[in-house]
Amino acid sequence: MEEIKFAVDSMLGKLARYLRIMGYDTEYLHDDDELIKKSLEEKRILVTRDKVLYLKASKLNIKSILIRSSDVLNQLREIISSNIRIKKGRPRCPLCNTKLKDVDKNRVKHLVPEKVYTHNKIFMLCENCNKIYWYGKHWIGIEKVLRDIGI
Ligand SMILES: [Zn+2]
Repeated sequence: MEEIKFAVDSMLGKLARYLRIMGYDTEYLHDDDELIKKSLEEKRILVTRDKVLYLKASKLNIKSILIRSSDVLNQLREIISSNIRIKKGRPRCPLCNTKLKDVDKNRVKHLVPEKVYTHNKIFMLCENCNKIYWYGKHWIGIEKVLRDIGI
């Protein structure tokens, strides 16, 4: 099965980060023409709040989703209800879209706050940003949405 990839417009930065955390290859772009180009060339699903852009993309046979909600969890619901087979993959860095690697807990001891270290078992590293991630707030929000929807 082909990998689901997204191109998300600049009004939906938070949603883009959530999609990356869920493991989707997600481009986050400011320019409408770039969004259209990337979607066409890389077969990305275009996600936007801009009706004009949505109609333009649809005319070009780009699979597009027009987002109406301003709440990120409801936005995720809108994506799921538009027939996207949502499935969590290896999380990607919310900042740069690089796939995160698991990192041994011992290695992050001095790199994360003590509380975080004590309360978490799984840590992940973005080798591009050198940032360490753990299953925090974002993940819990996403898990909740998926559970609510029954995934
Ligand atoms: Zn990164």
